Amino acid sequence: MEIIHLSFECYPVAKAGGLGDVVGALPKYQNKAGHYAKVVMPMIRTKFLYQHEWDVDFKGHANIADWWFDYTVIKERNNILGFDLYLIDIYGLLDREKIYGYSDDTQRYIAFQVAFLNWLSHWQHKPDVIHCHDYHVGLVPFMLKYCYDYNRLGDIPTVLTIHNAQYQGWMNWSESRLIPAWDTWKGGLLEWKGVINPLASAVKNAWQVTTVSWSYMEELRYNSNGLEALFEYERGKCSGVLNGIDSDFWNPATDKFIEQNYDVDTVTENKLINKEALCKEFNLDPQKPLIIFIGRLVGEKAADLLPDAIISCMYGMKGYLNFLVLGSGEPHIEWQLKQVAQTFPAHCNAVIGYDEALSHRMYASADFLLMPSRVEPCGLNQMYAMQYGTVPMVRSTGGLIDTVTDMGDWQGWGIRFDHASIGDIVHAVSRAVGLYYDHPESLNGMRRHMMQIDNSWEKSVQQYLNIYLSLK
Ligand code: ADP
Repeated sequence: MEIIHLSFECYPVAKAGGLGDVVGALPKYQNKAGHYAKVVMPMIRTKFLYQHEWDVDFKGHANIADWWFDYTVIKERNNILGFDLYLIDIYGLLDREKIYGYSDDTQRYIAFQVAFLNWLSHWQHKPDVIHCHDYHVGLVPFMLKYCYDYNRLGDIPTVLTIHNAQYQGWMNWSESRLIPAWDTWKGGLLEWKGVINPLASAVKNAWQVTTVSWSYMEELRYNSNGLEALFEYERGKCSGVLNGIDSDFWNPATDKFIEQNYDVDTVTENKLINKEALCKEFNLDPQKPLIIFIGRLVGEKAADLLPDAIISCMYGMKGYLNFLVLGSGEPHIEWQLKQVAQTFPAHCNAVIGYDEALSHRMYASADFLLMPSRVEPCGLNQMYAMQYGTVPMVRSTGGLIDTVTDMGDWQGWGIRFDHASIGDIVHAVSRAVGLYYDHPESLNGMRRHMMQIDNSWEKSVQQYLNIYLSLK
């Protein structure tokens, strides 16, 4: 099967979160399974662009409203990622330093989708499926069906995967002129609650819709930032496929970023070597449990609770623990975390920024990973943590429900709590600290158990293929 993944992120080309990890891995594993999967994304000016060799594949000319633009499709020459990677360059619009966050983002998303469809309309054959990821490319299923320019392509099946339904790309109707001429009787298929909603449009028009865990799919029917009724109505074509993790990058036995590699037999001793090195770097005590948080410092991740929760733990547990936080996001949370780190320099540190290498070292060194998320469609951090023998402490939501069981349950290995609240976090931390000091053997048993859980992509690849095949 020929599968085109359409996305604004793809690790290691450009990544802002889990979307990038998935698009960087899924096609590789689909190719390993004997299919032909490729990725098409915008040409963002990241390091990857300058470090690799490219061939020009196609040059074209298209328009949004009365603005005509040239675009160039370039292809990575050496198949370095295990799949064909195509970048679309639109001078001045897509070739920016950041992936998102510009005032003309709507125009950028639409121009990318238009350029892609324009390029596709020059192909001599049709792909078997176009797999769209998140709202940035969410107008493609509608455009394929109802924009006159692409009539010939209307029978190409489309699949939408929702990595996060909080963001929907809302547009005013005045911006509808940016979409190539379409059958105006079909306006309802672009709209939700009075505005153009690219995510809702994708849910309505894609042939199948998936999201990245089963529990998140359920949750969307009663909590999806305004789309609840739509998910209820479209439930027949919606399903959940859990993300996998890419063991080429996330494997403690081969990880090049960490001090000492280890596997299930050597986890106890070698994890400690990693921990000692990391604690030395951050002035923490390796004898005490190390609890980490890695992620965007935003309300969705309940990062706003971290500063007060850490302070409560410090006083409540009399400093018998260490915290290390890595993340960036809302400035007031960043500031508060820095303040907490200054108040408890021997027990807490906060690195504000994005650091892939440090994140690997933290997963390898930590005893516990805290994820109090308010919303978590799948969550990759907890799966990376498990792979590295680090016990996840997670709020029971979305994909965290599907991937972590509580240590109090039969054969459980993690710590779960119900509310994104300081009280629940402090209680979870006290359970973790108790486990660390009072039951080290159970902790080691859990580590070994978690490391053997299969969170690989192979299972999910098969589920996606079944979905594609159902569209034939
Ligand atoms: P989301 O996509 O909602 O941000 P996920 O758990 O799905 O959350 O994916 C987060 C990914 O981003 C993980 O690979 C995590 O390790 C990484 N990550 C998040 N913040 C940082 C950071 N500050 N430095 C390094 N890696 C980070």
